[in-house]
Amino acid sequence: MNTNELWEKCLSEVELNISKANFTTWFKNTSIIKEEAGTLYVGVPNEFVKDWLYNKFHKLILKTIIGHEEGVRSIEYVIHKNETTPNKNIEAIKQININKELPLNDLYLNKDDNLNPKYNFNSFVVGPFNELAYAVAQAIITNPGQNYNPFFVYGGTGLGKTHMIQAIGNTIKTKYPNKKIYYVSLERFAIDYINSIQNKNPNSFKEKYRKYDVIIMDDIQFISGKDKTQEELFHLFNTLYENNKQIIFSSDKHPNFIQGLEERLQSRFASGMTVQIVEPDYESRIAIIKAKFESTNCIIEEEITAYLAEILDGNIRELEGSLNTIICQSQLKNKSLSLNEIKILIKNNIKPKKTVAIKDIVTIIANYYGISDEIIYEKTRRKEIVRARQVAMYILREDFNISYPLIGSKLGGRDHTTAIHSHLKIKDDLKTDPALLQEIEKIRIMFK
Ligand code: ADP
Ligand code: MG
Repeated sequence: MNTNELWEKCLSEVELNISKANFTTWFKNTSIIKEEAGTLYVGVPNEFVKDWLYNKFHKLILKTIIGHEEGVRSIEYVIHKNETTPNKNIEAIKQININKELPLNDLYLNKDDNLNPKYNFNSFVVGPFNELAYAVAQAIITNPGQNYNPFFVYGGTGLGKTHMIQAIGNTIKTKYPNKKIYYVSLERFAIDYINSIQNKNPNSFKEKYRKYDVIIMDDIQFISGKDKTQEELFHLFNTLYENNKQIIFSSDKHPNFIQGLEERLQSRFASGMTVQIVEPDYESRIAIIKAKFESTNCIIEEEITAYLAEILDGNIRELEGSLNTIICQSQLKNKSLSLNEIKILIKNNIKPKKTVAIKDIVTIIANYYGISDEIIYEKTRRKEIVRARQVAMYILREDFNISYPLIGSKLGGRDHTTAIHSHLKIKDDLKTDPALLQEIEKIRIMFK
């Protein structure tokens, strides 16, 4: 394999392991310059990329390269100004930019504040699953920066975090036209910060972010492993907070479970109001389905609403996807669809319902390992029991999104740290143990 091919293979694997934004930022204009005595020299455009690749991605790069070229022992990053990037690489990078999702609605994004008017509270359904977060949001709108600061919303994907925090921004904007509001994803914030350093202008970055009255930062979990960004966010947080500026965060996890989050940030994130949004219950799903159909002027029968609420699970983004399929078809056919037609249409969208009780899951796993389920709850440290217990904890977390404290307490009154440890242990073992992967796949089939 020549070095160009080797690098392309490596890049295509690296791309699968990191975010698109990271990939484009750090791997654009890189190439292999030469291989000499087991050392591979990777050309990079500047000092900054060199440090970053070395500090953040070295292990990943080395592992990937060795997977293709066993003879490589080490990698050096060297600054290489000439445009030696193979054309295909540039193509690949362009492709990534083009493929980036650009929903139509993003066209309406206001560039000064990144708020999208489609996210407002008129179209937001409130139910037991999100009512606490909603109440806090309303209190913030009444008095930004005063009571609930910071506001930290967390919950699984597609449950309405972005919608909610954007809607807070939009409402404050209408109510207080003089307030400066800014919505930013953590990934964007990190890139902004890096660019400011690359352009040797960190002060412009500091000034920009310190001038807002309301900062809304989405998907803060991506701060994992970005140490410099954490440092910067910490200082920004303190300045804004001391000046009573409203700070709003979203994350897919509670701050205590964001990997690699410094303690001082963890405690600051959780120092205001921390609220979880969970999956919508049945009645809320009904309300969401009705609201979505109404907004497109489609008529839907009660029977069909009930059916959809029953079979579609709690991820609102996916639920919207299924509803859109139905709406599209009905517009194409220019008539309302019958229940039967709908059943056929969305057959593929139905995932196995994940409402199984924890106890039943444990029983299934115990059966699979040929042990009695009582033993799993007991304190036994026998190796095979410990393993089955760990697998159970892993599956409860990974597939059923059960919280660590709940897993711990349900599985014999254990501490949440035991649940975390088990989850991570199995996750880690899976990387090197194909037999374990097969076991887990077999267990999963039993839940389908
Ligand atoms: P998250 O940020 O938690 O992944 P989003 O905010 O992107 O989720 O929500 C996913 C989709 O579901 C969006 O199109 C959003 O408008 C819609 N949605 C979420 N929550 C609600 C809700 N409570 N009422 C109506 N639509 C909602
Ligand atoms: Mg989101």
